[in-house]
Amino acid sequence: MPKNAISPTRSENYPEWYQQVVKAADLAENSDVRGCMVIKPWGYAIWENIQRRLDAMFKATGHENAYFPLFIPMSFLEKEAEHVEGFAKECAVVTHHRLEPDGEGGLRPAPSAKLDEPLIVRPTSETIIGATFARWVQSYRDLPILINQWANVVRWELRTRMFLRTAEFLWQEGHTVHATSEEAEQETRMMLDVYATFAEEAMAMPVIKGEKTAGERFPGAVATYSIEALMQDNKALQAGTSHNLGQNFSKAQEIKFQSQAGELEFAWTTSWGVSTRLVGGLIMTHSDDDGLVLPPRLAPAHAVILPIYKNDAERDIVLPYAQSLKAELEAQQYDGEPVRIRIDDRDLRGGEKKWQWVKRGVPLRLEVGPRDVAGEGVFVSRRDTNAKGQGTPRAELVATIADTLVEIQQGLFDRALAARQEATVEIDSLEKFEKFFAEGKPGGLVWAPFVDGPEMEAKLKELKVTARCVPLDEQSGGTPGLPTGSGSGKCLFTGAATDKRAVFARAY
Ligand code: AMP
Repeated sequence: MPKNAISPTRSENYPEWYQQVVKAADLAENSDVRGCMVIKPWGYAIWENIQRRLDAMFKATGHENAYFPLFIPMSFLEKEAEHVEGFAKECAVVTHHRLEPDGEGGLRPAPSAKLDEPLIVRPTSETIIGATFARWVQSYRDLPILINQWANVVRWELRTRMFLRTAEFLWQEGHTVHATSEEAEQETRMMLDVYATFAEEAMAMPVIKGEKTAGERFPGAVATYSIEALMQDNKALQAGTSHNLGQNFSKAQEIKFQSQAGELEFAWTTSWGVSTRLVGGLIMTHSDDDGLVLPPRLAPAHAVILPIYKNDAERDIVLPYAQSLKAELEAQQYDGEPVRIRIDDRDLRGGEKKWQWVKRGVPLRLEVGPRDVAGEGVFVSRRDTNAKGQGTPRAELVATIADTLVEIQQGLFDRALAARQEATVEIDSLEKFEKFFAEGKPGGLVWAPFVDGPEMEAKLKELKVTARCVPLDEQSGGTPGLPTGSGSGKCLFTGAATDKRAVFARAY
C-alpha cells in the first residue's frame, strides 16, 4: 500500500479529507469566531488570482467597481417581501454604537447608545445599492448602470465548512440597471457565461450552466441562473449565480426613469456573484490523497525550486544556480504573464520540504543539487500526474515550461470532465431515480424529465436530492458530457408529459 500524505484518503472519508487538505496546504484555519475562517497567505494568494482574472473579465464586459456600506438599515431589507423572508433568518444585527463598563470588570453595549434603527451587516447588497441607484437614475440616458463590488458579506450559516460555506465570506457582487427587460435578461446570461468561462478556463472545472427551479431561486428574483460543478464525491456544488431581478427591486426601491418616449418607468435590475466558495470547488475538483492540486492559471507559484545541499560548500554552488534558474524561468511567458517561480531555501530536511509543496499543490517541483549543477540539469516533478520525477536538461526545462503548464491546465480539465461524464446518467422513472440515490450508492448527476412543482419538491426533500438546474445549452448543441436527450418525456414526479429536463444531484 502506498502511503499518502493526507489521512484519511478521499475514499475513506471525503469530508474529513477535505478539511485535512485545507490544513495541509496551509490555505485557511478556523478562527475564534464561530463559522468565520482565517484565510492564510497561500489560500489568499489563490483568491487574489481568482479576483484579478474575474475583475479583468468584468471590466472587459463594461463593468466598473464601486463600494457601498457594510451596514444596511433594517427598513431597507423590509421593502422586498420575498427578499426579507429569504435572508432574515441568517442576519447579523447591530443595535448599539458604544460599549461601557458593566460594573463587574467587563463591558456591555451602552443602553444610552441604542440605535434608533438597527443596522444589518450586509448578507448581500441589492437593497442598499438599489437605494443608491434610485438616486443615480433619472432618465434613460443614465442607463445602463453596470457596477461591481468586491466585498465581504455575512450570512449567519449554522452548518459551516471552510471556503464552501462560512458565516462571513469574501465575494464580488455585480449590480446592474437596465431600461428594458430584454437587456436585463441579456446581462444576466452574459455574466453566467463569464462565470462559466472563468470556471472552465481558469479553474479547469467543468460546469453546467442552467436556470434554477422555482424553489431554488434567489429571494426576490424573477429568474436565477447558476453554474454547477460536480465534485469528486459525486456531490454538486453551486459555484456561481446570476439573477434577473425583473422590476421587483426597482419597484421596492423606486428605481424609476424617464423613457425616451417621456414615460416614467420602473427599471430592470440584475445581480450576480461568486465567492470564496470557488476555492472550495477548486480543492474538491482536482486534489488527491497527497493534498492540493492547483491548476497553473490560479497557482500562486507555477513551480518551486528546491535547492538541495549538505554543507556550506554545496550551498555555495547550488544557491546561485537556483537563483539564476529562477531568473531564467521568470523570463518565460505563460498565459500572458511571466512564469511565477519561488525558491524554498529554508533550512528544512529535503523530504519534508518536498512534501510541503506536494501538499500545497504547486504544479512543478524543481530540485537542484550539486550533481544537477554539474550536469546543467534540474530534477523535475509534476504534481498533476504524480509521475516519477525526471532529470531534465536546464535549457530544455526553460524552453518547455510554458507548454508544460498549458498541458497541465488542459489535463486537469479533461480529467474532471471525464469524471463528470462517468458520473452522469439519464433516468426516466422515479423507481430508478430512488435507487440511484439510495443510501450507500455513489450518486452522481441525473438527467431527467420533470415538471416544477410541490410534488417534485416534496420527493426531492425526502430523498435529500436537489434539482441543480435546467441546463441552458441543450438548445445550442448540449453540455459536454450530458446526454442530449430532449423532446417529450414523462415527469418523474407527477407522470405528466413534459419536454423539460433538469440535472439532479446531492449537493453541498
Ligand atoms: P447568492 O447571493 O445566494 O446567489 O450567492 C452568491 C454566491 O455566493 C454564490 O456563488 C454562492 O455559491 C456563494 N455563497 C452563498 N452563500 C455562501 C456561504 N455561506 N459561503 C460561501 N459562499 C457562499
